[in-house]
Order: sequence, then structure tokens, then C-alpha cells
Amino acid sequence: MTQEFRIGHGFDAHRFRRGRKLILGGLTIPHSKGLVGHSDADVLLHALINALLGALGEGDIGQHFPDTDPVYKGISSLKLLDGALRLMRRSGYKLVNADVTLIAQEPKLAPYYSSMRQKVARHIKVPAQRVNIKAATTEKLGWIGKGRGMAAAAVVLLCRK
Ligand code: MG
Repeated sequence: MTQEFRIGHGFDAHRFRRGRKLILGGLTIPHSKGLVGHSDADVLLHALINALLGALGEGDIGQHFPDTDPVYKGISSLKLLDGALRLMRRSGYKLVNADVTLIAQEPKLAPYYSSMRQKVARHIKVPAQRVNIKAATTEKLGWIGKGRGMAAAAVVLLCRK
């Protein structure tokens, strides 16, 4: 039987605000600021969801979970990820692997790579080796470098037999 592969790319960005929790990959990361958004503003999961939807040819996160819908106000992005995973499974695809890059000047994210990847992989029900999470700074350049917000980019590969 031939295998069918699909690749997807996702990107997202959010601004920081004091008094918000910083939630990345479903984990609360200690920091003086958190990301602003209609949901919990989990920029990592939003990029990942956009990559999954991209691979499925299903548009983007805003089309599936509009930020004008009160249902999604303050919602955990793990629930939005569940929605994208349902679409993936319904069309017969499995995640081969995901690679996510967080782009932030602060806080230092390396101490949380392992717990973030375990949390996300457990949620998708794949081994942690299939979900890579890493980060880059912008060498203090631009709005990310000035600590005004952060971004994330993700690629996924899906497979169907
Ligand atoms: Mg977002």
C-alpha cells in the first residue's frame, strides 16, 4: 500500500503584557509577563495547530476557532489542539513528527524544552521524540528583541496509509 504524506507550516505571534500568565505548550512558564490573546494565547500551540491545519488543507486557526466567538474566550489552547487533532484523525492521518521553534528574547526557554515536549507529545499521544521544541532569540533586534512579544513557527509531517 502506498503511503501518503502531507507537510504543514504554521506561524503565530502574540504581544506580552504584565499580569498575564505565560502559557507555552500547555505549561505555565514563570515570567514577569504573559501573552495577550482571546484564548490563553499559547503561541506554541497556535503555530502547531496552524501547521496541522496547513497539512490537512484546512485553512488556519482563525477560521476554525474565531477570536470573535465567546466560546473560545480564555480557553486552553490544548482544547483547540484537540479540535485540529480530531480533523487529522477523521481524514485518516497520523503525526509523523513536529518541529517547533519559539522566537523570544526572554524568558530563557531551554530549561522547559523537555517538559513542553513531553506535555505536547502526551496530548497528541505520540512518543516525545516526535515533538521537537526549541527556541531562538532575535539578538535583541526588533519587537521580539525588545521583549514586547514572542512568536513561534512550526512544521509537521503527517502520514496516511
Ligand atoms: Mg495566536
